[in-house]
Amino acid sequence: MAFGEFDLIDSYFKHRQRQRSDVVLGIGDDGAVLRCPERSELVVVTDTMVAGVHFDQHMPARAIGHKIVAVNLSDLAAMGAEPAWISLALTLPQLDHDWLGSFAQGLRDICDYYGCQLIGGDTTQGPLTITVTAHGWVPQGSAIRRDGAKPGDWLFVSGTLGDAGLALAAQQKQVKITDEHYVRACDRLFMPAPRVALGQSLRAIASSAIDISDGLLADLQHILNASQVGARLSLQELPLSLAMTESVDQQQAIALALSSGDDYELCFTVPESRRGVLDTLLARDASKPTCIGRITSEPGKVKLELDGEPWQFSQAAGYQHFATDSGDEQQP
Ligand code: ADP
Ligand code: MG
Repeated sequence: MAFGEFDLIDSYFKHRQRQRSDVVLGIGDDGAVLRCPERSELVVVTDTMVAGVHFDQHMPARAIGHKIVAVNLSDLAAMGAEPAWISLALTLPQLDHDWLGSFAQGLRDICDYYGCQLIGGDTTQGPLTITVTAHGWVPQGSAIRRDGAKPGDWLFVSGTLGDAGLALAAQQKQVKITDEHYVRACDRLFMPAPRVALGQSLRAIASSAIDISDGLLADLQHILNASQVGARLSLQELPLSLAMTESVDQQQAIALALSSGDDYELCFTVPESRRGVLDTLLARDASKPTCIGRITSEPGKVKLELDGEPWQFSQAAGYQHFATDSGDEQQP
């Protein structure tokens, strides 16, 4: 540990969080000691955020603390896992108590909300970089994988798509947006809500799942490649927020929904035989998944249709408005 301040970890991370009963020994020793439930399998995920790459000066420290946990819990959700513990590797350029206090609060709040506990980590000095590893549980054999989609399965996404991309476009003054819509969109970018409950419910329903971090098309492609299937998407069904539909035209909205990142919604496939069970679940689920298409037998192929007509991605002329001078890495 850098800074020679063991108190730093204690005061910001150890003493204020809710304790889980399965943490035999948490922060403070060489390692954490954790009690593992029987007949379960451990799911482990890791995500890193680097200053200047994954966030910039627009992002408040509290949001950074929230988001580094949220993106990890989103990976756990996509596997159908129940979150339990996280560890934190923190590289800081200097000791900034205001920043650290806000960061720790954001991290602690989301951990408490989802009932997971910070059980250890490492602290070093260097360019601001934050890595979280999250551990969660699934009943034996029930993790949702990317390779289970079959032709004929229905394709769903939770929530609404493209809002984080809309916030970025607005930040870069590429779209005009009302203050109210901007606040909503920034909330999606800064404080994403991992679909933790939905992921666990999908264990008995979905044939495959992934969380959308790099944009729907890019992440769907991972399911298609792993499952050796294709997909047909009905673009008029893409779930869009009011902030989206009132800020950009249809072409731009589709382009953002298909290819902008940071949504942290779940994309999943459901066999016809389990669609009724899903409908029952949807009646209660706040993230309101929407059926946007169907799995086909052509490996790796994605067919896009708007109101039944073929839709070429290049038709998204509107998307050019979002391209940055340095070229847009989000465009396929
Ligand atoms: P060691 O030198 O044995 O690796 P450290 O001095 O790095 O231990 O850490 C002391 C304790 O503080 C350990 O329990 C470690 O898990 C915890 N810790 C260190 N950094 C962090 C952090 N950023 N977040 C949470 N726990 C941390
Ligand atoms: Mg040690």
